[in-house]
Amino acid sequence: MPKVDSLIIGEGPAGVTAALYLARSGCSVVLAEQMTTGGQILATSSLENYPGYPQGIKGYELADLFAAHLQGLEHLERKSGAVTQVAGEAGNFTVTFQDKSVVSCRSVLVCSGAKHRKLGVEREEELTGHGVSYCALCDGNFFRGKPVAVVGGGNAALEESLYLANIVDKIHLIHRRDTFRARKTYYDRLSAMGDKVVFHLDSQVTKLLGVKDLSAIGISNLKTGAYEEVNVEAIFIYVGFEPVTTFLPEELERDPQGFIVTDTEMRTNLPGIFAAGDIRSKLCRQVITAAGDGATAAQAAFVFLEQLHG
Ligand SMILES: Cc1cc2nc3c(=O)[nH]c(=O)nc-3n(C[C@H](O)[C@H](O)[C@H](O)COP(=O)(O)OP(=O)(O)OC[C@H]3O[C@@H](n4cnc5c(N)ncnc54)[C@H](O)[C@@H]3O)c2cc1C
Repeated sequence: MPKVDSLIIGEGPAGVTAALYLARSGCSVVLAEQMTTGGQILATSSLENYPGYPQGIKGYELADLFAAHLQGLEHLERKSGAVTQVAGEAGNFTVTFQDKSVVSCRSVLVCSGAKHRKLGVEREEELTGHGVSYCALCDGNFFRGKPVAVVGGGNAALEESLYLANIVDKIHLIHRRDTFRARKTYYDRLSAMGDKVVFHLDSQVTKLLGVKDLSAIGISNLKTGAYEEVNVEAIFIYVGFEPVTTFLPEELERDPQGFIVTDTEMRTNLPGIFAAGDIRSKLCRQVITAAGDGATAAQAAFVFLEQLHG
């Protein structure tokens, strides 16, 4: 493949938007994705805060619309696979994929997003897919009518608990503090469900129990030290996000949480590398802000490429 103007990593809202803008401006673009178009919106039951959809839109429906928008775009090539390394310098980058293929490009737009943080409890890895999950929308249906646990205190944990409440028999909601960071309306709706939702505050999950599949969890109260075991067939974990940056150069500036630092034009400290969406250090991580970042990054990359050619 000849050298292209830009390689964009990730087909989430940021990467899709950046690809649309750059390809429409006539730049040659490779858009790389390791899974399928949509990113985290595929884990979102319904988006009610994306303008233009007053009744809300399901995550997978928006992802399908994003994919449709990319169809047939001139100057755009899609590439399936995981990027494992970005190396080189402004105007002359090499991007390596898991299958060892390499793409040469003049600029790189990093839109690889963020992923759910692990709980860090023994057997978490082993039981993933056997009761341990990070996506209620994907896996909730397997536990119809069963007791489950949800861990976390932010919007994701409570939003997913509301989704699960329509499916499962009982939810044990475990949070290490005594108040939630999530929207109050979410908490109010869960509280109003009576016995269906059992709150375990000031608590953490310390054991995952079961032979082949999860059958119970151990919960320790952080204030009293009390320990109890509750029978659940699934645990849905929402204890924060971490940026997906392992394939990027060490010299790329990150904040203390590991998110990429950019200026307002999405430029990183390394010329020719731009970052957009949840991957970057910022206040608000949403579809609309990721798409906005993608558009800005594309415009900044366009200016960079013009100067390079100039
Ligand atoms: C449960 C949940 C509910 C949410 N609800 C809402 C909501 O109601 N409204 C809202 O606005 N936002 C919501 N969000 C947040 C929103 O989904 C994110 O802010 C947005 O998707 C971020 O977009 P992004 O493009 O930056 O990254 P992502 O969506 O994370 O996409 C990144 C993409 O990059 C790909 N990728 C990563 N690494 C590589 C690699 N090495 N090689 C190739 N591809 C790679 C990933 O597979 C992924 O497709 C929710 C998120 C979650 C998890």
